[in-house]
Amino acid sequence: MLKAFIIDLDMTLVDSSALEDWRHLKFWSHVMANLDQVKPFTFSSVSAHELPARLRKSGLKVAVVTSSPRFYAEEILKRFNIEFDALVAYDDTEQHKPDPEPINKALELLGVQAGEVVHVGDAAIDVQASYHAGVFSVGAGWGVQNFDALSSAAPDALFMYPRTLLKLDELALRGYVAESYALDIQPKVHAGSFLPCGGTPPRYALGRYFPREDSRHATSKLSNLLLEFKNSDDPAGTLAKALASFLTRLDWTPDYIVSVPPKPSQDRDRFSALFDAVEPLLSDDTHVIRNGLQCEKEIEGYKGMRALERATAIRGVFVSPYTWANDRVLLLDDVLTTGETVAECARVLLANAAAEVRIAAFARDQQVFARKLCPACNRPMRVRTNGTTGTRFWGCSGWPHECQHTENL
Ligand SMILES: [Zn+2]
Repeated sequence: MLKAFIIDLDMTLVDSSALEDWRHLKFWSHVMANLDQVKPFTFSSVSAHELPARLRKSGLKVAVVTSSPRFYAEEILKRFNIEFDALVAYDDTEQHKPDPEPINKALELLGVQAGEVVHVGDAAIDVQASYHAGVFSVGAGWGVQNFDALSSAAPDALFMYPRTLLKLDELALRGYVAESYALDIQPKVHAGSFLPCGGTPPRYALGRYFPREDSRHATSKLSNLLLEFKNSDDPAGTLAKALASFLTRLDWTPDYIVSVPPKPSQDRDRFSALFDAVEPLLSDDTHVIRNGLQCEKEIEGYKGMRALERATAIRGVFVSPYTWANDRVLLLDDVLTTGETVAECARVLLANAAAEVRIAAFARDQQVFARKLCPACNRPMRVRTNGTTGTRFWGCSGWPHECQHTENL
């Protein structure tokens, strides 16, 4: 049962973007002298800073957890009349997000269990801290500065408006559209039912794909459905429903939908059954075009290449037999990984006179949140970078004063 919310402060409850650089530099005297530059999020019927009071009125507890210092957090909470039951600031824990310690501290102060709370934040480190603490994470889409970073470390749900958080009995129906259909849930489709993934052309993902080495893989119905889709048409109906729902909520209507084509060595086009299933669900304005793109040649060793090598190797691999006379084309792929394939497909469509291309994938592949504790002192290890050589290694978070333990990555 849901008993409490844990909510981040900066860019979640209040818009402190004007002071972001100063906060990151920890130039607190400047920040404190310019607090009038911190603004409410006012574009919506409910402002984010009003959420805690509204949630508490519904009988829920609220903790504010922030990586900012206590003197700053207390001043902001006072200025915006933000109600709360507990505050965990930078000074209150030894470790900070993405470590779970601040969330665990909030659970302790609120007297609730990890399974009874939702953690709301705008950044990838909030998602990571939630994951390590075993807490359901919600992305505060209204404060997100970098959707590309957030979508590769995506929260369990994404809300674009603060008011969505108040629909307490519907929270379970407001996950990503493809994940909901994979679970046989009829979702309440909203602005956060799919992940904006940034990029040019714009990319969207209808859910998250967890690789096999991620502990979330086993319980992710969508991840397993997408693996099955590589060899079987059975998931086509489910994925078609997700695609059609996504198109009803997207602020853009494509004239045509085309897919990333199979390689010459593949005799099965996995999108063929999907297109059969989605065609009857589309509006009259949108049409499916099979073979809108073709793959002319196989690239040896593509999977092992780095991003830059891939981008070069893939050039000229795809052709389109059509001229897309000023049409809007949605390009479809199953899982969005590094994105070179779809970028090259989009380039070919645009070179063949498409007016605008956007890219949709059923899922974006997700970062694996590894957590490693220092064998010498039990503090969490961090991935660090040697400033001179650029080499990445595990370093103890107690470095340099408390502990000097390092390990190769
Ligand atoms: Zn250590």
